[in-house]
Amino acid sequence: MDQPARSILYITLGCAKNEVDTDRMRSLLTAAGYAEAEGTDDADLVIINTCSFLASATSESIETTLELADEVHEGVRSVPIVMCGCVPSRYGADLPAELPEVAAFVRTDEEDGIVSVVDGLVGIDRGLPAHVPEVKRIVEGAVAYLKISDGCDRFCSFCAIPYIRGRYHSRSAASILAEARELVAGGVRELVLIGQDTGIWGQDLPEDAQGPRNLAQLLIAVAEAVRPERVWIRVLYLQPEGMTDELIGAIRDTPEVLPYIDIPVQHCCERVLAEMNRSGSEAELEELFGRLRREIPGMVIRTTYLVAFPGETDEEHDRMLRFMDRIGFDYTSVFAFSPEDGTRAARMACQIDEEEKLARTQEAMDLAEQLGFAATAAHVGERAEVIVDGIEETDEGPELIGHAWFQAPDCDGAVHLDAREAAVGDILTVEFTDSFCYELVGHVIE
Ligand code: SF4
Repeated sequence: MDQPARSILYITLGCAKNEVDTDRMRSLLTAAGYAEAEGTDDADLVIINTCSFLASATSESIETTLELADEVHEGVRSVPIVMCGCVPSRYGADLPAELPEVAAFVRTDEEDGIVSVVDGLVGIDRGLPAHVPEVKRIVEGAVAYLKISDGCDRFCSFCAIPYIRGRYHSRSAASILAEARELVAGGVRELVLIGQDTGIWGQDLPEDAQGPRNLAQLLIAVAEAVRPERVWIRVLYLQPEGMTDELIGAIRDTPEVLPYIDIPVQHCCERVLAEMNRSGSEAELEELFGRLRREIPGMVIRTTYLVAFPGETDEEHDRMLRFMDRIGFDYTSVFAFSPEDGTRAARMACQIDEEEKLARTQEAMDLAEQLGFAATAAHVGERAEVIVDGIEETDEGPELIGHAWFQAPDCDGAVHLDAREAAVGDILTVEFTDSFCYELVGHVIE
């Protein structure tokens, strides 16, 4: 049949995992003949991929959808909106009545069927049985998130993700490696491996599965698969228990794998961790981070502190601040506890009042900034490679922006380059001449 000449506007909220899901839907729809719209003006349909990790993220998803509905229903044009992702997964049955502005809701586990949903809304009948074709993922830019698993089995008492995304399931090594090769062949220069819990990748694979069996082996296999191209490989969202000797060795000894890790500890106190349904103790975490810094030269560590978990005492909060300071995390995300519907922590007694929560959150953010700004400034005077990410318009004209190996894309700051001409994806050698907050100024050497 003729290709449908319809355009779709994609809006992604939330984390990198959602970006991967949007890429997948975009690829399926592009393979089915849909174009990508630049904005609502030239869109025939809007897909909004939502986040529901926290109550605030759910609110933002709904507000964005309602603002969009106002925009696309103005005047004579009326553009259908499809809401995908975590909000429909979490609140599915309640949504049609609550959000009549939305034409269709698609849960995360239904997203492979996006083409038939969109076809139905724009009035295309392909006359073919529904099937999900193998599609090449379409990615713009030099960085691609590579999802290695989905779901989570940990059931931390504050977190709704296992209810939204389902139980943990590893993606097969063969499909991860094939996608890694495709992405790199398409110009990607950094692969960021993600999942809700990357450290346990492989544990649920069948006994007779061929190839890599754990994250360490997977990292080596991805590096081998993309050689001889020059590619950076980074791992995010690793729970502390996932850091094994074998993984430390793989990070240290595989040149493509960056000495950078994101381990969201949430807290350091054993009592709080137990209430969170997490394991470990301050001493064990300290030993882990000390070992990483000793055994992997230049190791950069990102973490997360969930502030004001129910029952967190002043002393426990202070202990966590002292712990952050002692470890000297390069980057720390700070979240205030939010009682999420359906989670055990939302029903716990000893909820901390909002004023106290705000005060503790501010204190933690101040410390995180102090540590992060100092870690950034420590790179001034160094030379390192920087991947060019794009051009930003500034008051002084266009400015080239990139990120260094110690900066995870989209979250750790950027490098502002003094060169005027370079292509997205170029890897430049840069000397850092100055820093401000999490940002660095880089003089291009070559
Ligand atoms: S490890 Fe805990 S916080 Fe992370 S997704 Fe799983 S349940 Fe949520």
